[in-house]
Amino acid sequence: MARGQQKIQSQQKNAKKQAGQKKKQGHDQKAAAKAALIYTCTVCRTRMPDPKTFKQHFESKHPKTPLPPELADVQA
Ligand SMILES: [Zn+2]
Repeated sequence: MARGQQKIQSQQKNAKKQAGQKKKQGHDQKAAAKAALIYTCTVCRTRMPDPKTFKQHFESKHPKTPLPPELADVQA
């Protein structure tokens, strides 16, 4: 009896652990997606995942605005 109970407890513990991992993974993906959009256009506030996209966006949307210094070295 005691042994069977222990097994059930162990299974419940494992299920809880797996659910926790699943939850954490989902959270990480969300955080990663958010972290991926780290370049915000200084003119129109559009967010972009990488400097290349940012530079291409800047050159096509705001050609009259001087390029931000952090984009000067970016090879688009
Ligand atoms: Zn823009």
